[in-house]
Amino acid sequence: MSMEQFEKYVGQVFDRRYKINKIIGIGGMAVVFEAHDMLMNRTVAVKMLKEEINNDAQSVKRFINESRAVAMLNHPNIVNIYDVSVKDDIKYIVMEYIHGITLKNYMNRKGVIGWKEALSYMEQILRALEHAHAKGIIHRDIKPQNIMLLKNGVIKVTDFGIAKLPNTDTVTMTDKAIGTVYYISPEQASGKQIDPRSDLYSLGAMLYEMVTGQLPFYAESSVSVVLMQVNDNPVPPGELNPSLPQGLEQLILCAMEKDPEYRYQNASDMMRCVMQLRQRPDTIFPTRKPDSEEDDAFRGKRKVTPTDTPRRKRRRGSYSMFPVILGVALSFMIVMGVAIFYVLQQLIIAESDDDYKTIEIENFVGMLYSGNLLDSMEFAKYYNIEIDSVYDADAPANTIVAQEPVSGTSRKVSEKHDQKCTVMLTVSLGAQTFKLADLTGQEYRQAELLLSRMGLACKVVEEYHDTALDGYVYKMDPPAGDTVTSGDTVTLFVSRGQKVEYVSVPNFLGLIRDEAMKILIENDLALGKVNYVASDQPIGTILSQSKPEFASVPKSATKIDFTVSGGPDYEPPKVEEETETAEEIPAEGENGDAS
Ligand code: ADP
Ligand code: MG
Repeated sequence: MSMEQFEKYVGQVFDRRYKINKIIGIGGMAVVFEAHDMLMNRTVAVKMLKEEINNDAQSVKRFINESRAVAMLNHPNIVNIYDVSVKDDIKYIVMEYIHGITLKNYMNRKGVIGWKEALSYMEQILRALEHAHAKGIIHRDIKPQNIMLLKNGVIKVTDFGIAKLPNTDTVTMTDKAIGTVYYISPEQASGKQIDPRSDLYSLGAMLYEMVTGQLPFYAESSVSVVLMQVNDNPVPPGELNPSLPQGLEQLILCAMEKDPEYRYQNASDMMRCVMQLRQRPDTIFPTRKPDSEEDDAFRGKRKVTPTDTPRRKRRRGSYSMFPVILGVALSFMIVMGVAIFYVLQQLIIAESDDDYKTIEIENFVGMLYSGNLLDSMEFAKYYNIEIDSVYDADAPANTIVAQEPVSGTSRKVSEKHDQKCTVMLTVSLGAQTFKLADLTGQEYRQAELLLSRMGLACKVVEEYHDTALDGYVYKMDPPAGDTVTSGDTVTLFVSRGQKVEYVSVPNFLGLIRDEAMKILIENDLALGKVNYVASDQPIGTILSQSKPEFASVPKSATKIDFTVSGGPDYEPPKVEEETETAEEIPAEGENGDAS
């Protein structure tokens, strides 16, 4: 990827609005320019799809869809997207220009980043992810190149959801186009379904690198790295940097679990642990991964539960091996205990099967959830209800919108042995409240589209505006950044272009032709047809005007016709020369004006 290929855009103006100043960076899929937004008079970053990618319809579609979705994100730790243009051959997004450096550059400069500093960045990135995940947007490409750092320590995450190609196994794809695989989650690496937890894995890998100065997995070829992501365990970060608190090592390794089920289940959970570590570096988190992976009894019961009770810090390579031995012995005993318990339980089940009953899980979706749903005795005997909540503008608050397992699934229950069936109900919180994105500077149809996707109603007010282009939003009510709730109405003020000014028509009657011409020019009016007639008035006297005195007419565009005296003996010339053409008189007038 040579720079020359993109130099040709420097100096160009995209969409009559963005003047390209220089190339800032070239990534796998796109090239980033510094540009000047002439409409908003600000510096922006323009990210343009590379030409070869431009020809891949699927990638382009994805670029469009996702960049529009990302344009709706509005968070202090996420780079703002101002505009998305996909009209012609050139497809680009316009973003907030970040006066900072990438975390990648920063790491190159510093080597190892102090863990306290690293945790401050983690917290900010997790806030950004929490916001995006809540809107259903997965980043997919968390890596130090996509994290920008401002001088004041503020983090801005870039490239939400847009940087990845759909089919990374295309033969023609170069390593560069695949992008870096050092932070890729095992499920992403093996082409499986990804979810928000994939971002947490990448974040774990990044934190590993920040605090140890080494990548968790390194090999010459991308393929080897991908295989390592799927199969290998990283060297515990504490072995590379013994000054790391144990809780931090736990945090990194938990985020980097191969199986997403064992990771932090969401950004908020991970953030809580990060915050706890920042406050109390000696925190040791309870282990939540069962020691035996085959132990199915644990499946589905894992929950992320950060503890508030810090235990005594275990120092690696410390004076005594005793705590370590004790730990190993303890966990061995726990595994044994659990195993014995399940063996016994199986035996009991086999012995008295009569106490068990198979039920089919009923349907809860669509019902209103209320606390006393469980009050029915029959119900409470068999069900154990867990609640998850979600914002959903289409479902009134407290409506159950999903259940897991689905209705009709069979489960064995027993009142006697208190074996209940656990059902997870997702309950609607009703409409969502969020901060309104900035839509000023957007073409109004696109702004309308964005609003409707956010579940907001839209009202358009068109007004003249001196600087905003015709058809573009220049103001909104409520303004960007205000908190809105889905269903709210947002008024977009759309420019009709520059206001047309009006002028009051002066009186021309009785004037002679040259005087009239001067007044026309002074009032920014134009001359229309001039018709000579026979009259007792001196030759050249204006007898009538096509627009009456005091009529209000648009400036510049309005022509006024005159009837002019040709003297008493005037005879209209032959048909083709019946009227003087409009051009003849202004020529005289302009000459007069110029001299
Ligand atoms: P990648 O993320 O694969 O490195 P990108 O195309 O996303 O490639 O970006 C290339 C480079 O452009 C980034 O590494 C960064 O230095 C720079 N860059 C990207 N976005 C911005 C921005 N909004 N403001 C300033 N610089 C940016
Ligand atoms: Mg990037």
